[in-house]
Amino acid sequence: MTAKDLSLADQVALRMDNWKPEQGCPAWIESADRQCGKPNKEGYLCMRHHTVAVRRYEDHLLRERTKRELREAWREKSLPLWRAELAKVDAEIERRDQPVVRDRAAVGGVVHRSIRKKQAALMSDTNVRRMAALWAKHEELTKLIGADA
Ligand SMILES: [Zn+2]
Repeated sequence: MTAKDLSLADQVALRMDNWKPEQGCPAWIESADRQCGKPNKEGYLCMRHHTVAVRRYEDHLLRERTKRELREAWREKSLPLWRAELAKVDAEIERRDQPVVRDRAAVGGVVHRSIRKKQAALMSDTNVRRMAALWAKHEELTKLIGADA
């Protein structure tokens, strides 16, 4: 039995982990509420259920492919938007993260009123919350852009 045989059996059987050869075809017949049990002709399955399984498997592959194509198209369309948004987020982080005055002497000791006011603004809850939100957005966008970044 191959992996393909198992994939096919999985399309029609309820479970395959406890299958034994003497059970025969493991396909579940819902209307009869029992296992098929006919002799295995193709892999694990009887001919009839093999045909059903192949059809379901091909449908499954087609659905997966369609989903993948839609996802890729969406991603391709979104990438420039994500990159532009990330640049904006990073610029705002950079701007908010600037020390008020680069000269440390100016912020130590007696501080000019205008500098103290700017420092207070930097430490405000609103700014802290905004920075947390910006970093969360940065993380999210970086993850979305992923390997293409
Ligand atoms: Zn069968």
